[in-house]
Amino acid sequence: MKIHTRAVHAGDRKKPAPAIPVTTPVYAASSYFYETAEELDRIFAREQEGYCYSRYGNPTNAALEELVSSLENGRGALACASGMAALHMALLAALTDRPKSVLAATSLYGATFNLLLQVLEPLGVNCQFVDVCDASATAEAVRRCRPACLLVETISNPLLRVAPLDRLAELARGAGAALVVDNTFATPLLVRPLELGAQLVVHSLTKYLAGHGDVLGGIVVSDEAHYEALRALGRTSGAVLGPFESYLTMRGVKTLPLRMERQCANARHLAAWLRRHPRIERVHFPDDPNHPDAETVGRLLPEGLFGAIVSFELRGAGRSEILALMDRLKLIVPATSLGDVHTMVLYPVMSSHREISPKQRERMGIRDNLLRISVGIEAVEDIQADLEQALAGT
Ligand SMILES: *Cc1c(COP(=O)(O)O)cnc(C)c1O
Repeated sequence: MKIHTRAVHAGDRKKPAPAIPVTTPVYAASSYFYETAEELDRIFAREQEGYCYSRYGNPTNAALEELVSSLENGRGALACASGMAALHMALLAALTDRPKSVLAATSLYGATFNLLLQVLEPLGVNCQFVDVCDASATAEAVRRCRPACLLVETISNPLLRVAPLDRLAELARGAGAALVVDNTFATPLLVRPLELGAQLVVHSLTKYLAGHGDVLGGIVVSDEAHYEALRALGRTSGAVLGPFESYLTMRGVKTLPLRMERQCANARHLAAWLRRHPRIERVHFPDDPNHPDAETVGRLLPEGLFGAIVSFELRGAGRSEILALMDRLKLIVPATSLGDVHTMVLYPVMSSHREISPKQRERMGIRDNLLRISVGIEAVEDIQADLEQALAGT
């Protein structure tokens, strides 16, 4: 054969068998074939399990999907290009065969608001909002709106309210609605919403699951009833994760329980220290016995694990004092995102809640002196020392 042909085919498609790789490789192939065309036909017809085209399924993605589905105790999962793509798919799966209406929590990730109000509502989806930590208001809103889907976050950002997922699942069941839970902040180590009666669980893989600040991805874990609709949406809309990101995420998830235990312990230590610090007016962290959701925390969160995000208000500070404090940090990274191995701070007024009017922010309790820390796996003394020297200048 000529060099042009050998350049394309020689050495390719070599099977490693009978050797078994100890970890799932990156399957970068976009399509697959079989010994016989007959077999490929059966796979296209979905009469036989297998791969034909990577938008339909990819072995690296399938490994990650099985992994996260196992952690969340689901029927199966769909790995998506980002957390937002995953939320989009989860909402569409929830609304398949149901009236087009969503009742969502008032405290949601900023882009999730935009997904509801700028993408879904213009397509005819009715979107209403309620404080899901207010039991009577939520029950009343469900009666009034008759939603097809209830959308909540397990732990809210940045004030760390904890949603009563078990009660919300009961309400949703009574109304025939699907409960969709964004479990990004809690991770399956703290809460597994499907076990509490949710139908679909979403993660931004970008955060704790990948955990190293090098992946953008999302995943939806489904119960039995919504699984086929979810997979069909993945095949058709194509917002699926790339195999390299799947590989990196799997590598990350292997240490998720270890990282999360350490990060939760570090966060708890820092919250206790910040509460005693004279420059701190208020600390938001779910281990507080006076936390507004203390009862839910006691019922749903495991002993000693309260998440790894701490928010605090700096006494008498405004925008310029907070920005100066961020500039004084030497170890803690002042970057958007959370859940990474390194500690990060974020100023909600500048980033995540920038688009919200100051008046509305005030009503939400997000003040100009509020800073959010995503606590990493470093030695907690070093994180504390960095905060201490930065606070000393205030
Ligand atoms: C980051 C985040 C998202 C969006 O995820 P991306 O991967 O950035 O698309 C959604 N929900 C929560 C709670 C998040 O923290």
